[in-house]
Amino acid sequence: MSEHTPSPKKIRRIGVLTSGGDAPGMNAAIRSVVRTCIQYGVIPVGVHRGYNGLINSDVVELNARSVNGITSRGGTMLYTARCPEFVKPEGVQKAVNACRYLGIDGLITIGGDGTFRGARDLANAGINTVAIPGTIDNDIACTHYSIGFDTAANTAIDAIDKLADTMQSHERCSVVEVMGRGAGHLALYCGLACGAAAILIPEKAFDFEKDIIEKIREGHYNGKRHFLIIVAEGVGCTDEIAKRVREQTGIETRVSTLGHIQRGGSPSARDRVMASRMGHYAVMRLLEGKSNIVVCYRDAHLCDIPISEALDMHKDLDSYMYQVACDIAI
Ligand code: ADP
Repeated sequence: MSEHTPSPKKIRRIGVLTSGGDAPGMNAAIRSVVRTCIQYGVIPVGVHRGYNGLINSDVVELNARSVNGITSRGGTMLYTARCPEFVKPEGVQKAVNACRYLGIDGLITIGGDGTFRGARDLANAGINTVAIPGTIDNDIACTHYSIGFDTAANTAIDAIDKLADTMQSHERCSVVEVMGRGAGHLALYCGLACGAAAILIPEKAFDFEKDIIEKIREGHYNGKRHFLIIVAEGVGCTDEIAKRVREQTGIETRVSTLGHIQRGGSPSARDRVMASRMGHYAVMRLLEGKSNIVVCYRDAHLCDIPISEALDMHKDLDSYMYQVACDIAI
């Protein structure tokens, strides 16, 4: 630091909140934030229910023991919520006033791109804020990884494997809807891992006859007796797809929507480790005086970029992964 660079304002209290959809691993991130704060002489403050907790000053001072044993638990000990009031400037101002009143000098927000927008608004209003990507959808463009994706993928894969056992015994076709909001990353990953005959995702147009019916007919002709079709939530017509498969192939076809079980469960090793690293990284950046940034994982290391830049980026689907899934689904 040059002698002309002002040293960052001393941070006494750092708030941490989880917002938007919950993701397994958020607890490990909270724990890491809390313990890192304590390690560096900062008081950690837990904010309940996302931005609602800031607006309503619903906060709790945490200590090292408050976060005992939470790493292995899914969900978030701070609860999460959506906060429509926070989207308006008056809501942001209320949150800023609360931070000042509570002595919160820095804030760490864990969530998806909606949460990032809130973090950007707070940072622009003068509260030092760092965002951590936490969403099972893995749809945040600036980072190759977001907390929760690995656990959600493994939960879905485990459920699909179980379904496959019963479907195989009955020689059925299963059409499985996988979460991911408007993105197909989770569906593609699960489809490849489970050997789906077809993976339908919003990012890739598909020809129903050629990509599904012909594949099933050909497989059936070659002795295949069970078929798995993965449909991303964002495609949006899972029942209709199953109906057409049943009508056009004559194979008994069942729909399973995995739904919210994909969000729950004990976080995988990868999510725990990544969340712990990101939580630590976020605190260290605040202590350096940084603000208005997102913690990213790129090319096997952590880095950060401005939130506004992160929000302008668009995440492309891994086309090569899609090609692999298509090529080997024969
Ligand atoms: P996620 O963070 O998982 O994408 P949401 O999109 O629901 O989840 O956003 C979570 C919260 O972030 C919202 O309830 C709201 O409080 C805040 N938020 C979302 N969009 C904005 C925005 N444009 N400006 C300010 N705050 C926002």
